[in-house]
Amino acid sequence: MVLAESIGKYRVGRTIGEGAFAKVRLAVDAETGGCVAVKVIDRSTVLRNNLMYQVKREISAMRLLNHPNIVKIHEVIATKTKICLVMEYVPGGQLSDKLSYLKRLDEREAKKYFYQLIDAVDYCHRRGVFHRDLKPENLLLDNQGNLKVSDFGLSVLRKPGQFVSTSCGSPCYVAPEVIQHKTYDGAAADIWSCGVILFELLAGYLPFQDCSLIHLYRRISRAQYALPQWITLPQKKIILRILDPSPITRAKVNDIFDDEWFQEGYNPSVRRTGSDDGDDCVDLDEAGTDSDGSHSTEVREAGGANPEPEQFINTFRLIATCRDLDLSGLFQEQKTKLGSPHSVQETLGIITAAARDVSLSARRMGSSMVKLQDIRLLS
Ligand code: ADP
Ligand code: MG
Repeated sequence: MVLAESIGKYRVGRTIGEGAFAKVRLAVDAETGGCVAVKVIDRSTVLRNNLMYQVKREISAMRLLNHPNIVKIHEVIATKTKICLVMEYVPGGQLSDKLSYLKRLDEREAKKYFYQLIDAVDYCHRRGVFHRDLKPENLLLDNQGNLKVSDFGLSVLRKPGQFVSTSCGSPCYVAPEVIQHKTYDGAAADIWSCGVILFELLAGYLPFQDCSLIHLYRRISRAQYALPQWITLPQKKIILRILDPSPITRAKVNDIFDDEWFQEGYNPSVRRTGSDDGDDCVDLDEAGTDSDGSHSTEVREAGGANPEPEQFINTFRLIATCRDLDLSGLFQEQKTKLGSPHSVQETLGIITAAARDVSLSARRMGSSMVKLQDIRLLS
């Protein structure tokens, strides 16, 4: 692995994502050896397109936030030609990738992501920050399978209740009042997007889809969607409350917290505070700590005593973990224990095939261990 460029104390490596006007690159903090993601924004592009205000806004919005389900921004480095946002590296890929792979999630997993999304959104809204482009592409997964909201490029700082008038976001997730170019409440619009995401997680398809943009907008404006038959009554109730075309009567974040389906099994990831001052919020449960960034996996036959949930990952999460290889594994070797309903041999076979797809070599060690390594490091 060649890490040629340096930005401050960070050795910058390969590109891991590309956005509208920025590249996101993987980097290593030379002091700690830890991985970070650096969003490199070309200053001239920013100036040419009059985006300086938007970039400054993104930075100030992100720096105010400190929540386990929101991508943390560590520092901002401005060079003559570039603006570099140094962020927490989230190695598990986008939730949209997982959805395209699995189609739909079971209720337990869908609920977990929805809880984490609502926790993050509630936290932001309490601080007057609205995302305005919530969609699975902007929801990243860490290597514990926890959700982290990213991409505050379109968020705007306002006091809750004030209205935001710029129309933006992705059509399928955008609220009717945004499409209709009405002045809109950023909080209500974000809640709508959360409803579309919840629908997609449970149904496996989008509630509003049409090749014609006009028809799509019509469907969204009338909240015309078809629920699959497997949706349960409590699920239907909460979706109905959120996907209400009227932002006035649409569920508020507190209505979601009060919903029966939501409440069953809910554990907040942080203490909810009413303050607008981000400093007083202490992360009680740092869901995003990367303690099992392992590339060494032990497979056990399922069926014995129930494993500790946080020590076990399913095959998909293993693949997701390896998708964007977390370089921390190069500096420290850790083990991940994996539960599987298949036999050890079958599971090792699946892991080996999946590893090959993401340029990892899988070496068997003993009867139930497999060691994953970046192929590039072997040559
Ligand atoms: P844009 O604002 O242009 O949409 P994003 O901030 O969404 O750019 O970044 C583009 C892509 O880069 C994301 O979709 C994601 O795949 C990747 N990415 C962004 N931030 C991180 C991060 N902190 N860790 C890992 N990957 C990231
Ligand atoms: Mg994005």
